[in-house]
Amino acid sequence: MDECIFCQIVKKEIPANIVYEDKEKLAFRDINPQAPVHILVIPKKHISSVLEMSEKEQELIGNFFSLIKEIVKKETKVKNGFRVVVNCGSDAGQAVAHLHFHLLAGRKFSWPPG
Ligand code: AMP
Repeated sequence: MDECIFCQIVKKEIPANIVYEDKEKLAFRDINPQAPVHILVIPKKHISSVLEMSEKEQELIGNFFSLIKEIVKKETKVKNGFRVVVNCGSDAGQAVAHLHFHLLAGRKFSWPPG
């Protein structure tokens, strides 16, 4: 999966503004931020979307919320809430086929999303 841009970030083949890293997870700032805080949280392993997760991978992905909570506590611009978004498939606008959570904060968001 060398052509996957997020796999390339995991391998440090292309630069990213990394805010957290461990054996299984990576969090980095979105290159085209849609809010004052826009961080992508990804599994290091290439999983193309929510639909491709195995049972074991689902356990790992469930743990992502602990990391999201930690990041939220550290980001000073997160004041009155945040939004977590996972786009899956073309109708949702998934552009990168490597599972990722968007963590967005620092402004008010409308509902329903566009
Ligand atoms: P999605 O539309 O849900 O697939 O979101 C993909 C996100 O990845 C978009 O918000 C892009 O701005 C972001 N993105 C694409 N390439 C990079 C990159 N090299 N570094 C950081 N974020 C990226």
